[in-house]
Amino acid sequence: MRPQLLVGGLLVAVLGALLFVVQLPFLYFWSLPLALGGGVMALASFFMSEGEGPVTAPPGYRFCVFCTNPVPIGAERCSRCNGLQPRGE
Ligand SMILES: [Zn+2]
Repeated sequence: MRPQLLVGGLLVAVLGALLFVVQLPFLYFWSLPLALGGGVMALASFFMSEGEGPVTAPPGYRFCVFCTNPVPIGAERCSRCNGLQPRGE
């Protein structure tokens, strides 16, 4: 769930709906794509993981010191770059 994307999508959808209602000559053309795109954005935000993903490792994991791939805590080597992980913690 990404709140920024949800808010952005809703704003775009509202803008599209507004253009659809007002029916300005040229902007009317953009009303349906905007409304649909905004709706898709808002919907997609529910299926996307938290935006802070790259910043905090999932529970039980930490980032590889070489390639920042999530590595299980206690694992000796990274599964992606095979880098030796520092011990402890
Ligand atoms: Zn690595």
